[in-house]
Amino acid sequence: MVLTQSDIERYKRQIPIDGFGLEAQMRLKESVVLVAGVGGIGGTAALYLSTAGIGKLILIHDGELVLPDLNRQIMMSHDGIGQDRVYQAKDAIHRINPDVSIEVLPDKVSEENLDIILPQADVVIDCRHNFKERDILNEACVRHRKILVEAAMNDMEAYITTIIPYRTPCLSCIYPEKPEWDYLGFNVLGAVSGTIGCLSAIEAIKVLTGLGEPLYSKLLFFDTKGMEFKKFNLYRRSDCGVCGYDNPC
Ligand SMILES: [Zn+2]
Repeated sequence: MVLTQSDIERYKRQIPIDGFGLEAQMRLKESVVLVAGVGGIGGTAALYLSTAGIGKLILIHDGELVLPDLNRQIMMSHDGIGQDRVYQAKDAIHRINPDVSIEVLPDKVSEENLDIILPQADVVIDCRHNFKERDILNEACVRHRKILVEAAMNDMEAYITTIIPYRTPCLSCIYPEKPEWDYLGFNVLGAVSGTIGCLSAIEAIKVLTGLGEPLYSKLLFFDTKGMEFKKFNLYRRSDCGVCGYDNPC
């Protein structure tokens, strides 16, 4: 695989970034990112990975578009209400960058589908809205040793961290007890989900290219009401049921 003249022209405003260059652009072109959820966070992440020149995206999301999705799901259109969201996401991306290869799965995250699709992914971005799917994704990424960007939001707040299985804390190390999440009932401001979606794309790009320092063992939390951004250290738990030291590596 090589960068074409068209690639170099399309990405000429990012290739000169310090620490990026043609090599990073090439790595993006060769990379596959699985985005679990193409809603407010995942849709934004997928879109910006596409504009940056990712080679292939695998998009997982079940369900059809409904009117309340449109305050944040920027790849969708009003005309698409009642239709599957992953296909609309694919069309929206191809309108901007037809060079991105896209595989879609209109389904929930499950152990079965992850065991089939995870092996081809270089990085995974978790944008699911419930802990059931988040836990399945976390466990599968640990088992397949795939780097997982973990992003979530509620109301005006959001958090993000990046997990390397057996090296940094996994989702179950961070949340051994699962918070009470109201199924699809939490508040969402589209600009907040879009912000955390952009940060997720940046994390994936950093992991794939070696640019900068990803949020390994760090959790970035922000509250946009007061525009407070804080970074916390995270620690693995020896008794973690997913990646604990007692569990086989
Ligand atoms: Zn763990």
